[in-house]
Amino acid sequence: MARVFNFSAGPAMLPEEVLRQAQEELMDWHGSGVCVAEMSHRGKEFVSIAEQTEADLRALLAIPDGYRVFFLQGGASSQFAMVPMNLLRGNNKAAYLNTGSWSRKAIAEAKRFCTVEIAASTEDTRFTCAPTQDELALSAEVAYLHYTPNETIEGVEFPFIPETGDTPLAADMSSTLLSRPIKVSRYGVIYAGAQKNIGPAGLTVVIVREDLIGRPIVGTPAMFDYQSHADTGSMYNTPPTYAWYLAGLVFQWLRRRGGLESMAAINARKAEALYVAIDASGFYTNPVEFSSRSRMNVPFTLADPGLDQRFLTEAAAAGLVTLKGHRSVGGMRASIYNAMPEEGVLALIAFMQEFERKYG
Ligand SMILES: *Cc1c(COP(=O)(O)O)cnc(C)c1O
Repeated sequence: MARVFNFSAGPAMLPEEVLRQAQEELMDWHGSGVCVAEMSHRGKEFVSIAEQTEADLRALLAIPDGYRVFFLQGGASSQFAMVPMNLLRGNNKAAYLNTGSWSRKAIAEAKRFCTVEIAASTEDTRFTCAPTQDELALSAEVAYLHYTPNETIEGVEFPFIPETGDTPLAADMSSTLLSRPIKVSRYGVIYAGAQKNIGPAGLTVVIVREDLIGRPIVGTPAMFDYQSHADTGSMYNTPPTYAWYLAGLVFQWLRRRGGLESMAAINARKAEALYVAIDASGFYTNPVEFSSRSRMNVPFTLADPGLDQRFLTEAAAAGLVTLKGHRSVGGMRASIYNAMPEEGVLALIAFMQEFERKYG
């Protein structure tokens, strides 16, 4: 069967070039006689892969000195706990922006460890916009501010980085990291589950400012203490070696394609084309305020929800899969991460126009 265009929110598409390279190297990585999955994580082969991967990520994101990069397990969901455990540092208050399903989960987890102040919430808009800087009510006593720059489920993306003064900023970038350049120096912690825009599930990338490491709350398990991972180069225990390697192949692919400036331009074109098509139709609707529409996750509804199943079936027959929206939002969602080629988005648009012509 030919490969399809997979619009899944995650685990998501990987670049075909990367999959081919992994296939070529599967049985014998660079003359080592073994698959990367069979290597000791402490052997020189894997250590070279790990170092190259970190160096490529640092180059892509222009990560400044003074930041550590970790390749961990546990998903973004473990970071919901690790952020308060490591960043509270004697404080018992943290601020959160409540902008959708994922920030809500982060807030619920933080409440196990501290008092959560909601510095802004867009719940009364049913999470269809990002707040503005003016709407943030940030008190001085909080240990950090946490937010979700791209809400994967609602398709809402912040068009700005919250200004927090000296308060460290923590960001769940699971569905946006590597989609465009970011100013890492504005953040205390950045984390992302890999399965959206980085690589396969099972790997979590964490970027932490060094001064925030080393003062975890009492009782923090070693695996949840950033210090354990800083001391061991993310090898406190056996790391997710194969996922780490595949992420490394993705980073090299991104560098060959011209890095994040170039990806940002491609991603902007893909999203723009899809939103223009949705807005131009009388049949499809995206509920998100124009200025905070996500470039990665595009939810849309059909004028007649009775046609949803037919839409999904005919789309799948045309090689366009996993378009069903999240159960909490309904309708459709097209996730168009880095690995989704422009042809995939154009094929989706052509399909949508034809579907509207037939049934609209
Ligand atoms: C997918 C996602 C998560 C959950 O990630 P896991 O790796 O499954 O824990 C958290 N936050 C955001 C923004 C996501 O998109």
